[in-house]
Amino acid sequence: MSLSNASDSVDVFIAGGGPAGLAAAIAAAQRGFSVMVADAARPPIDKACGEGIMPEGVEVLGALGVELSAMGAARLEGICFLDAAGEVRASFPRGTGLGVRRTALHGALVARAERMGVRLAWGTRVEAIRQGEAVAGGSTVRCRFVVCADGLNSSLRQMAGFGPAKARRRRFGFRSHYRVPPWSPYVEVYWGEFGQIYITPVSTGEICVALLTSNPHARLETVLLAFPCLRERLLGAGEDARGDERRMGGITATSRLRAVTSGRIAVIGDASGSADAITGDGLSLAFQQAIALADAMAAGAPNKPVFGLLGRDELDGYQRAHERISRLPRAMGELLLLLDGRPRLRRRVFSVFAQSPELFARLLALHTGGISPLDLGAVDCLRFGWKLLGA
Ligand SMILES: Cc1cc2nc3c(=O)[nH]c(=O)nc-3n(C[C@H](O)[C@H](O)[C@H](O)COP(=O)(O)OP(=O)(O)OC[C@H]3O[C@@H](n4cnc5c(N)ncnc54)[C@H](O)[C@@H]3O)c2cc1C
Repeated sequence: MSLSNASDSVDVFIAGGGPAGLAAAIAAAQRGFSVMVADAARPPIDKACGEGIMPEGVEVLGALGVELSAMGAARLEGICFLDAAGEVRASFPRGTGLGVRRTALHGALVARAERMGVRLAWGTRVEAIRQGEAVAGGSTVRCRFVVCADGLNSSLRQMAGFGPAKARRRRFGFRSHYRVPPWSPYVEVYWGEFGQIYITPVSTGEICVALLTSNPHARLETVLLAFPCLRERLLGAGEDARGDERRMGGITATSRLRAVTSGRIAVIGDASGSADAITGDGLSLAFQQAIALADAMAAGAPNKPVFGLLGRDELDGYQRAHERISRLPRAMGELLLLLDGRPRLRRRVFSVFAQSPELFARLLALHTGGISPLDLGAVDCLRFGWKLLGA
């Protein structure tokens, strides 16, 4: 659909039809809003990604009515950390994760949005957003709410007065696919001086390999030398095993915005601040934010004039929920990045986990929402500290 044949007013206009924008569109449509999404690209939209969705994200996708079985995804049972000295693994305490090609995920989100009656304008750049309207593909669309979902390097959030996101550390991500049957239902994270290699099963016959590194010149072939077994599995499988598409690169960053709402404009997904990809949480966060935003719009909207004066606090509920949803993944990201830059500390921490795998399992449970920080408790922290001193 192009904007010229779209009606020129909707309840919710969403700039960006990536995972965050589409999830927000579906959640808003589920609450009875008329919704339009405009994206500069055309589906299925691909992106450099580890392609793992944490259990909380899978749960939200279910609530959004996204057809997971149609995606041909792989079930993920937990996380395994490996380094040159050994490995430690833990299962998700609640639910399972999903490994799925970005293009398949995007296709499923688009299909669900279409079924919900969301108007989708592909190949349409959003040029400007303001309170109550957006300019896209040369047309002006009037709307009650504007949602800015244009990704990590969002230009629209600056235009809307949110200011630049405070980025703490930027790293590089390179992704490729290999047509080999997954050898484990766990996401494997290989740690070395170079950063991390993520191995995520994405179907019964394919894995996604993502390299996360601070070094823009690092290459998978080189860093694999530190892990001969993995190298043999990937490179030994021969050229035929390499996926059919080009490798993709991207930037990952830990970033934060002071506010994610301003009047009736809200920011969502990577545009609203991000945790480093090391957390594997970006998609899950975006999906949770989508529900929170739709709830806040529904709570704020009913009795207010559609295009009239702003109630100052209309989307406050989203601001609070966003902070709550993002807090722990951000902290986890910081913790993991601490290990990334300090090999000696990492070796000691991994040796504690290897001796006491239940501590690693508790940490994973905390990370995936299986337990709260209070449940982790002082006893676990003291045990960890004590063992670390002795490691
Ligand atoms: C290397 C790497 C590995 C990762 N691994 C994982 C992982 O395993 N699991 C996980 O959960 N997360 C992972 N992430 C994070 C995850 O990819 C992001 O959190 C997620 O893509 C955010 O979705 P989004 O919709 O906010 O942004 P995006 O996916 O970037 O989508 C933004 C959309 O906005 C559109 N757009 C931009 N500007 C405009 C404009 N002016 N007008 C119209 N459209 C516009 C773009 O075309 C794009 O479609 C990883 C990230 C990286 C870089």
